[in-house]
Amino acid sequence: MNSLILVLASLLYLAFLFGVAYWAEKRSEKGKSLVTNPYIYALSLAIYCTAWTFYGSVGRAVSYGIEYLSVYIGPTLMMPLWWLVIRKIIRISKVYRITSIADFISSRYGKNVTLGIIVTLVSLVGVLPYIAIQLKAISSSFRILTRTDSPSNSHIFLDDLTFYISMGLGLFTIIFGTRKIDSTERHEGMVAAIAAESIIKALAFIIVGIFVTYGIFNGFGDIFNKAALHPQLKSQFLMDGNKGEYSSWFWHTALSMSAILFLPRQFQVAVVENVNEKHLNKAMWLFPLYLLIINIFVLPIAFGGELLFPNHDVNPDNYLLAIPLKYDAKFLALLTYIGGFSAATSMVIVETIALSIMVSNSLVMPILLAYPKVIGKYENNLSGLVNNIRRVSIFIILLLAYIYAKAIARYFSLVSIGMVSFAAVAQFAPAIIGGIYWKEGNRKGAIIGLLSGTFIWFYTLVLPSLIGAGLFPHSILEEGLWGIKALRPSALFGLEGMDDISHGMFWSMFFNIGSYVTFSLITKATSIELNQAVTFVDVFSHSKFTDNTTIWRGTAYLNDIRTLLNNFFGERRTDRVLRLFAQKHSLNLENKKADPKLVTYSEKLLAGVVGAASARIMVASISKEEHISMDEVINILRASQELMVNNKELRRKSIELEKATSELKEANEILKRTDKLKDDFLSTVAHEIRTPLTSIRALSEIVYDNPDMDQEEREHFLGTVVKESDRLSRLINQVLDLEKYESGRQKLIKENVDIQEIVKDSIDALYQPAKEKGIKVVFLPDRFAPKFEADRDKLVQVVVNLISNAIKYCEADKGEIQIATHYVEGAIYTSIQDNGVGIAKEFQRLIFDKFFQAEDQTIKKPKGSGLGLAISKKIVELHQGQIWVESEVGHGSKFTFMLPVV
Ligand code: ADP
Repeated sequence: MNSLILVLASLLYLAFLFGVAYWAEKRSEKGKSLVTNPYIYALSLAIYCTAWTFYGSVGRAVSYGIEYLSVYIGPTLMMPLWWLVIRKIIRISKVYRITSIADFISSRYGKNVTLGIIVTLVSLVGVLPYIAIQLKAISSSFRILTRTDSPSNSHIFLDDLTFYISMGLGLFTIIFGTRKIDSTERHEGMVAAIAAESIIKALAFIIVGIFVTYGIFNGFGDIFNKAALHPQLKSQFLMDGNKGEYSSWFWHTALSMSAILFLPRQFQVAVVENVNEKHLNKAMWLFPLYLLIINIFVLPIAFGGELLFPNHDVNPDNYLLAIPLKYDAKFLALLTYIGGFSAATSMVIVETIALSIMVSNSLVMPILLAYPKVIGKYENNLSGLVNNIRRVSIFIILLLAYIYAKAIARYFSLVSIGMVSFAAVAQFAPAIIGGIYWKEGNRKGAIIGLLSGTFIWFYTLVLPSLIGAGLFPHSILEEGLWGIKALRPSALFGLEGMDDISHGMFWSMFFNIGSYVTFSLITKATSIELNQAVTFVDVFSHSKFTDNTTIWRGTAYLNDIRTLLNNFFGERRTDRVLRLFAQKHSLNLENKKADPKLVTYSEKLLAGVVGAASARIMVASISKEEHISMDEVINILRASQELMVNNKELRRKSIELEKATSELKEANEILKRTDKLKDDFLSTVAHEIRTPLTSIRALSEIVYDNPDMDQEEREHFLGTVVKESDRLSRLINQVLDLEKYESGRQKLIKENVDIQEIVKDSIDALYQPAKEKGIKVVFLPDRFAPKFEADRDKLVQVVVNLISNAIKYCEADKGEIQIATHYVEGAIYTSIQDNGVGIAKEFQRLIFDKFFQAEDQTIKKPKGSGLGLAISKKIVELHQGQIWVESEVGHGSKFTFMLPVV
């Protein structure tokens, strides 16, 4: 392919990236930010898939079989844990305005400068080669397409496209990565460009995959069938448990689990560029899905390549390009090139930004701050200084990576560089994970752990390659350092049978975690370490509760603080920020001395720009900090914890109060209702009383006014008066009775009773009225019903009431009442059945309600008070029984009450 086309395509692609980034920044200035979209966040995480993935997956699948998947299984397994781990890291980073891993670790362990420097250096050493292989991937894909096989370092620098591309990427990184240096202002353009690149690389891979699978072969089945005929290929895809295969699965998966968290570029996109914790929800399923999609065609392409190039004259890493070329599919080859280019560039850009932030904030600034003279020169433009350090370091990093790619990388395989890089950043895992879950983890533990882990990493994973390159004598490999066999780099302390990565990881983690835990336990933390430890581990309770979690005491003058902030944020912004803070915490900005709250807040603001360690040094330089003893720190932290607990208590109480209020409201409603019922009841009672009273009065008046009324008539009148008076006193008795039941004052006088006797006595009492009305009464007793404890008189009252109702509502001379008792399963059922008028369905439940008649006058019969059933029900219920009615209008009614035998 013509190299001019490729150069043009590369430049066009870079222009496209600039365009996307520029457009995204413009949009965000207009308030239509793209990064508020969770899909962009998830896509930006796909920066995990670099050129190493793009070209290397196929190569690894060919040489290591399905083990290549471990690099994707790790992150996928990690995703559910993200909600726990990354969310916490994000929250901490927001609270402390943390901008890099170095800053994170240094901040956690007492804003320690040494730790920041160590982490930065480890990152540089670990990740630079990784950047280098991206550049190498670009240049080798270029060479393959243009078929220029000349060794790459013959035309170094100005002759080489890779050099120009590296510098172009440097320019992009500077423009979109260092314009704003405050942590709260993110690199939106860059993130948008990265997300676009994630789509492009996936698309390119899939299109080539489809071409190979369906264009050249006849689908997955075809390729796999053909590959299965090759014994050599087949064995690659079976796990046989030999050669420490399981341990390498384990370590490779663990390694990529830590890489997805701690690679500087992953930390940058996942934590620093995160705008909303909720975006994690989408990323948790979208990112694994992305990994799945981009891996679908790895095996078909790998098999396809093996089948198409049986002579092994093509490096499997290059199958992706070689296959389209073999079929002269130029456009596809170009597309692949762009896909790989995008995978490489996105990685290079973000990794470089992340590293440059570490270099400026955790390495150069803390050192420069020790030389007031140097700093003095930039007195009025410290943010410019920070920015320049970043710009310069971006170019230096890219230049070093370029040189590495040209001069050293050829001694290493692609795979080993990627994995060794992963292993380097895995050294941060104990200090970070321990740091956010374990308060006892302290600075000395972290430093010693990191140093020992990194040393072992170097000894077991880097040294062998350097030996291979002839930089160290070969004897170290076989006979160990100083001839000590136990010190062989690839079989340390006699551990054999593991692959290099697993072996290196095992020992480095062993020493790293071991020293971190041991030294944390045997050494004492300082008060500032303790402060940071508690606020990191308990970040979820602290960050909600107050934005001021660092304990600081001392004197600082507001003017000094103002000047310091001016250097970074400019006068206008400093003024605005200070005024807002003062307002929120009701501080007076007229005071000469600054409030401690304001001092720690300013330090946090600065930390967002220069890192926690540098910010602390700067604030310390303008203030006189008083030492706070360990006990005090513990007390203050405990107080804030208690306040928090109190807060919780308060919330609980207010919820309780709310509940009580609503209960009260309900009770009030019920009261209102019963109040109304009571009113109704009273008016009914009054009405009931008035009716007989009126007739008594009228009749007595007539008798009184007519002294010579004849005897028969007088007796008739007086008889009615007596009857009405009886009714009146019955009514009053009933009302009083009911009132007793309602208020619970009515007590039962229990004795051993026989239900048959009760019924018989009741029938006897009503013998007269029944006979008068010509009504037949039949009783069918259950002879097996046992005696039981009950209030005899009250039960008689119930039965009498039910029978007298039956008599009342039966037609004279035709009426028949059947009374029966049944003993079933511990309860006695007594039923009184008549063949009277019956009760309509809708009233059947209501007739037991004393107020019902009051509310519905239509069913009120003139013969009664309407209280009999209500009282009966109360009595039955006092005996833990139940009463109900079955009836049909015109077909009589059957009242039954059940009493449990106890
Ligand atoms: P009352 O003194 O009015 O009979 P109760 O409380 O005993 O008061 O009965 C309430 C209402 O139930 C009666 O007014 C009547 O309408 C209905 N009722 C009760 N028993 C019978 C029955 N055996 N047949 C038809 N209706 C009945």
